[in-house]
Amino acid sequence: MTADTRQKTLNQAQLVPIVLDEGQRGYDILIGSGLLDEPSSWQGLSKAASALIVSNETVAPLYLQRLRAQLSKYYARVDAVLLPDGEQFKDWASLNLIFDRLLETASDRKTVLFALGGGVIGDMTGFAASVYMRGVPFVQVPTTLLAQVDSSVGGKTAINHPLGKNMLGAFYQPARVIADLDTLDTLSQRELSAGLAEVIKYGPIADAAFLDWIEVNLDALLARDKSALAYAVKRCCEIKAWVVGQDEREQGLRAILNFGHTFGHAIETGLGYGEWLHGEAVGCGMVMASDLSVRLGLMPAEFLPRMRALIERAGLPVVGPPLGAQRYLDLMRVDKKAEGGEIRFVLVEGLGKAGMHAAPDELVEMVLATHCA
Ligand code: NAD
Ligand code: MG
Repeated sequence: MTADTRQKTLNQAQLVPIVLDEGQRGYDILIGSGLLDEPSSWQGLSKAASALIVSNETVAPLYLQRLRAQLSKYYARVDAVLLPDGEQFKDWASLNLIFDRLLETASDRKTVLFALGGGVIGDMTGFAASVYMRGVPFVQVPTTLLAQVDSSVGGKTAINHPLGKNMLGAFYQPARVIADLDTLDTLSQRELSAGLAEVIKYGPIADAAFLDWIEVNLDALLARDKSALAYAVKRCCEIKAWVVGQDEREQGLRAILNFGHTFGHAIETGLGYGEWLHGEAVGCGMVMASDLSVRLGLMPAEFLPRMRALIERAGLPVVGPPLGAQRYLDLMRVDKKAEGGEIRFVLVEGLGKAGMHAAPDELVEMVLATHCA
């Protein structure tokens, strides 16, 4: 079936196809209101005797029963495992809870895993799916804005190590992504803002017109206007699909999606996981990376105040924690993009275009001195 035909069979939902290996592999991202209770969302997945829903203590009371009701139409057995909630639990112990449940229920190599939750659940479920019996299918059901615009799409899965974020993982693509915009109604305002950081990210790196659109529509997004959210999620997924379609395993282009993340990961690891939200760290990290883009002469001076104002309006921190420049630099040297101990930053090279750059430590120290408490 072509993407056009698939789109016609969907009620209301928007469909963004991800095409990998020149069409050899791919899957659909469904975006819309009411998708959780819409039978067509769940049709046509690979057949299996059982499904396992992976969720957490916060999301399960809100949405688990509804997902279970839909999946029960397609799978003879639908089990669930609930993990503790939080970035600090994105670790081996939580991952093992998934394997424990899969083995206790004698799940076979066709069992389909469903990740119901935010990026933490999605990243761990995907990693578990990549490893269980050397790989079982999984479906992303993202329930945070951040997960809908970013983490559920593209097949990066991981857990954290105490010494570095997302250091253990695999590239493993989902069979489908089902982003029900209505699930965002129950998200806290702080989490909504964290998701907006990743939305904002796509503008400067890939689409100058989208950056303009976000500036105009930010209040509507903060008020959870459904049509604004639908457009933002769709546009972000289109950009991510375009990037991942060209560079699934981050040999080059895909790294631009990490704009703000080198500084951001240092903040997250330096403070201890769960202190700042990932999106908050990325928001602040984008202020720092924007400044570095200006200091290296890649962008005009106005770019920094423009980005800082937008990030602040989105309810995100624009001043970094006082970890000390040396600690920031040490943390950034273990970033996955670092090569031979040289930190490589994603910097904006003109609105809608980004690339990788090294920078002298002294310049990075000036950036940190300017934007840290
Ligand atoms: P999260 O998964 O911790 O979710 C945030 C909080 O919201 C949690 O407390 C969660 O229980 C709660 N929640 C989720 N959905 C809810 C809902 N509908 N209503 C009420 N509460 C809800 O955090 P996140 O921001 O979704 O994801 C961050 C994670 O994603 C990080 O670990 C980051 O490394 C990862 N990430 C991965 C990729 C990727 O490509 N794989 C990309 C970006 C981020
Ligand atoms: Mg991110």
